[in-house]
Amino acid sequence: MSDLLQTLRLLVVSPDKDLSQWLISDLGALEEKDGTHTVEFSGTRFEMVLECDPTKLSSPSADILLGLIRFVDGVSLHLLGELFKVATAEKSCPAAVLVYRKELEGDFKMSCPFCGQKLWVRDADQDKRGRCPNCHKGFTLPGQEDHVAKALHLPPGISVRKAVQGDTSTLGAHLKQLLRVRADEINLRMAGDKTGLSSRQTMNVNLETGLIPPQGH
Ligand SMILES: [Zn+2]
Repeated sequence: MSDLLQTLRLLVVSPDKDLSQWLISDLGALEEKDGTHTVEFSGTRFEMVLECDPTKLSSPSADILLGLIRFVDGVSLHLLGELFKVATAEKSCPAAVLVYRKELEGDFKMSCPFCGQKLWVRDADQDKRGRCPNCHKGFTLPGQEDHVAKALHLPPGISVRKAVQGDTSTLGAHLKQLLRVRADEINLRMAGDKTGLSSRQTMNVNLETGLIPPQGH
């Protein structure tokens, strides 16, 4: 291993321990020491820490946060949401959620937006009109990414991505994207330092008169 590489701490949170192990083997971890797995990729050394228990995530420090999920059922999404809440509570860092599945796992469970009936939806049917067999109401079928983003109430800065187990080039592309986001944020911060923006106090926002119409759901 070269010492010229930049080293970043990659915190991987997942309700599913096996999934984190898949990621490690797909990324070709070089070594493991005290629960930290080292991966070298794209001129960067990642020190990966895996966590699947929100109560153990008391004060995580991370340069990049990655949430992993395989089956986007309610329980898994709830657990991932809890992990994200703890992981992002203290400081913000570039983050993404990865739906990380086996090749043929192309469907997911969601609740009917009208009656709550649990429904299987195929990822290939994204954007088609579907009808709930229980309440007979129709709605546009979401893709997995949209479904996960909505269920986790993710802010716009956190993207949801998909990769199939064993597809290292897609995984690599996602990691590269997160590295770019991080580089952009550091550049922005440095630019802010130059203009003195970052040293200014936070101000109360002024309210304009007139009400903004509520957004439709
Ligand atoms: Zn329904």
